[in-house]
Amino acid sequence: MTKCDTHIYDALIIGAGLVGLTTALALSHKGLKTALIDRADPVKALAPDFDGRASALSASSVTLLSNLGLLPDIQAQLQPMNHIVVADGKVGAVSPLTLDFDRNSLETSNVGTLQNGVSGYMVENKYLRMALYDAVFASTDIDFWAPNTVKTLKRDEKGVSVTLETGTHLTGAVLIAADGRTSYTRRNAGIEVETKSYSQSALTVTLSHSRNHQNTAYEIFYPSGPFALLPLKGRCSSLVWSDKPATLRAALSLPRAALIEEIARRTNGLIGEIDLKTEPLLYPLSLQIAHSYTASRLALVGDAAHVIHPIAGQGLNMGLRDVGALVDILSEAKSAGLDIGGASLEAYGVWRNFDTRSLAGATDILNSMFSNRLAPLVHARRIGLTAIQGSSVLKSFFMREAAGQSGVRPSLMRASL
Ligand SMILES: Cc1cc2nc3c(=O)[nH]c(=O)nc-3n(C[C@H](O)[C@H](O)[C@H](O)COP(=O)(O)OP(=O)(O)OC[C@H]3O[C@@H](n4cnc5c(N)ncnc54)[C@H](O)[C@@H]3O)c2cc1C
Repeated sequence: MTKCDTHIYDALIIGAGLVGLTTALALSHKGLKTALIDRADPVKALAPDFDGRASALSASSVTLLSNLGLLPDIQAQLQPMNHIVVADGKVGAVSPLTLDFDRNSLETSNVGTLQNGVSGYMVENKYLRMALYDAVFASTDIDFWAPNTVKTLKRDEKGVSVTLETGTHLTGAVLIAADGRTSYTRRNAGIEVETKSYSQSALTVTLSHSRNHQNTAYEIFYPSGPFALLPLKGRCSSLVWSDKPATLRAALSLPRAALIEEIARRTNGLIGEIDLKTEPLLYPLSLQIAHSYTASRLALVGDAAHVIHPIAGQGLNMGLRDVGALVDILSEAKSAGLDIGGASLEAYGVWRNFDTRSLAGATDILNSMFSNRLAPLVHARRIGLTAIQGSSVLKSFFMREAAGQSGVRPSLMRASL
C-alpha cells in the first residue's frame, strides 16, 4: 500500500469502542462496507486496565447482539438478572425500606422478556469487546484502521473523506462519530453539548464473594451517591460505587485490605465476605447531551451523542439503540437507491433525540433524588419507594424501561431475525 492509496467505503466510523464496533458489524450485516478507525491499539484494549466495567444489558440489547450472531461467543458470560433490590442506606446499615423488582412476582404479559423470563443480563465489557473484535476481524466488509488517528477530515455535498496520520486516504458517503464523550468528530463539526457535572466519580471493580448473589442486583442509595452490586458469573459481582471524587481517590490510595474493609462496610454483608478480583478503576460522571445528533453527512452514536449517570445502567443500551436506529435508516436508504448520507439522516436525529432526552432526564432525577440528605427529598424518596413497591403496574413500567422495550424499537432489537 502506498501513501496515496484511497479506499472507498459506504461509511467511515471514527471510534471502535463497544458502540463503534457494533455499528460496523451491524452495517456489514446489511451489506454496507465500512472503515473503522481507532487511536487505541486493539491488543491494549483487551488489557485488564483498559475497561474494568461490566454492563447491564437490556433484553433488547441482547436481541440486537443475537441478531448480529454474537450470542454463541458471549452466552457463557451472560449473567441473568432476575431481581433488582433497591434500598435507602447509610454506611453500616441498609434501610429496611427496600424495593424488590422480583421478576417472578410480576405479570409476564406486562413485562418485556427475553429468554426464560429474564429482563436483563450482566456481562463484563472485556468479553463483549473480545466477541466484537473477533466478528469485526472476520468480516470482509470492515477494514479496521487501528491504532491510527485522523489527520484531516472533510465533509461536503459529494461525500466524506479522511486522511489518516499514516497518509492513507479513506472516502465514504457518511461519517459516524463513535469516539466517546470527548468526541473529536463532534467538536470538528461544531456541535455543542449540554453538560451537567455530578461532582461524582464511579469506582468500579469486580468483587468475588462468599455468598451466592441469587441473580440479584443491589442498588443502595447512600447520601453521597448510589452503590451498586451487579451479579456476574460465579460468586462474583461488579461494584459501581458512585461518590465524591475526593472520597474515591482516598479509597483508591488505601492499602488493599483497608479498601476491602471500606467496601465491605457499604455492602452490609449482603454478599458475604468479599475480595477484589480486578484492579479498581475510577470514571468521572456527568450528564452530557449533544445539541444535535446529525449534521451534513454526519451521525453521532453512543457516548459521542449522550453520556448519562450509570445509576440505571443504560448508557451502552442507549448507544446500541442508536446503532439499531441508524442502521435501519441507512440500509433503507441504500435499498431505495438513495444517497445514504443524504436527507434521511435527519430522521435518525429525530428518532433518537426524544428517547435519549427522556431517559437522561429520568436518570438525572433519580440521582438527584437519591444522592441527597435534605429531609424533604429523603421523605419524597421514601414515599416514592413505597408507592412503587406497592404497585405491580409501576414496577412493570420500570422493568419494561430497564428491558429497553419502550418506544419504537429498531428492527435489530425485535425478535430474532
Ligand atoms: C462506571 C460506569 C458504569 C456503566 N455501566 C453501564 C451499564 O451497566 N450498562 C450500560 O448500558 N451502560 C453503562 N455505562 C455506560 C457505557 O459504559 C458507555 O455508554 C459505553 O461504554 C460507551 O461506548 P462508546 O463506544 O460510545 O464510547 P467509548 O467506550 O468511549 O469508545 C470510544 C472509542 O473511540 C476511540 N477514540 C476516541 N477519540 C478518538 C479519536 N480522536 N480518533 C480515533 N479514535 C478515538 C477510543 O479509543 C474508544 O475506543 C457505564 C458507564 C460508567 C462510567
